[in-house]
Formats: sequence, structure tokens, C-alpha cells
Amino acid sequence: MAEREKSCGPCTMCCKVMRVDELSKPGGTMCAHARPGRGCGIYETRPASCRSFACLWLLDADMPHRFRPDQTKVVLDQDHDGRRLIARCDPANPLAWRRAPIHAALKGYAQDHWGTGKVVMAVAGRRAWLITPKEEIDLGEIDPAARIEVAEDAEGRVSVRMK
Ligand code: SF4
Ligand code: SF4
Repeated sequence: MAEREKSCGPCTMCCKVMRVDELSKPGGTMCAHARPGRGCGIYETRPASCRSFACLWLLDADMPHRFRPDQTKVVLDQDHDGRRLIARCDPANPLAWRRAPIHAALKGYAQDHWGTGKVVMAVAGRRAWLITPKEEIDLGEIDPAARIEVAEDAEGRVSVRMK
């Protein structure tokens, strides 16, 4: 595999927003091993879920530096089957996804994928929003594992069902 062109640098945002089951660390709390501005204090022995995680900024060689999560306070992620693009925000800064440049990027992705079954969401702790090309729908607090079904009627009204 080709080497990544990017590195995390001083970013440790995923060490805060992501859950780490091996460490019993809930999402939204900074990991005790994180060294803000420097990275992981147990890098060589970090858990498997930390080793396997890479945010979309890190994976996408073309995504500009200004999208790096420590700049935006948003970790761009997708679920395992690629059906949700998720803007994961620090619960202390839950509306970070509304700021530039993330907001326009989320709207653009929603526009490009609307109707394909892929949805765009913002999440801060258990609070979630659905981002459509035309609006942002506050879903309140949801089960992060819930299945989400989105439908649009002939008048363009969007409804969301959680299973
Ligand atoms: S959020 Fe992305 S860039 Fe930041 S530390 Fe995690 S993987 Fe690296
Ligand atoms: S173990 Fe290291 S990589 Fe994993 S969340 Fe903690 S600081 Fe981040």
C-alpha cells in the first residue's frame, strides 16, 4: 500500500470525539493517554481501534489543510458500510459543523448524494442532525447505532425514521 501523504501532526481530535472500547473511553471525553499538540502518549501500544481509525481528512490526499480536525473541531468519518458521512463534533462545541469550511462541504456532499441512500449527519455526543441539500433537521438525542431511514414526499418534505 502506498504511504499516506498526510500525517496527523499535532491533531488529537479523534482521541476526544471517538469512543475507544478497549479503554472504556466514551466518545466526547479526551483520552487520558492523549498529549494535546503532540499525539498519543502510548503510540506503540495503542489499542486496535485507534490503529485502524483514520478520519476522512487523513485518508483524502486532496482535502486541504484547513479541514484538518484540530482546525475545524470536526472529525469527518463514515460508518462501516459507507452509508453515512458523519461530522463528529466535540460535545463542548456541538455546532462546529455549521462553520466554514465544513458546513459548505457537508451541504455539497448532501447535494451530490441525495436520493442515493447515503446520508450526511452531524453528531455531538448523542445529539444528531441530518443535513440535506435544503435544510438541517435536528434529530435530538439518538441511539448512535440506530438505523436511519430518510424519505422525501412529492412536496419535498423530508421525514426521518429511526429503527
Ligand atoms: S482526527 Fe484525523 S487527523 Fe486528527 S488525529 Fe485523528 S486521524 Fe489524525
Ligand atoms: S490511546 Fe492514543 S490514539 Fe487511542 S484515543 Fe488514546 S491518545 Fe488517542
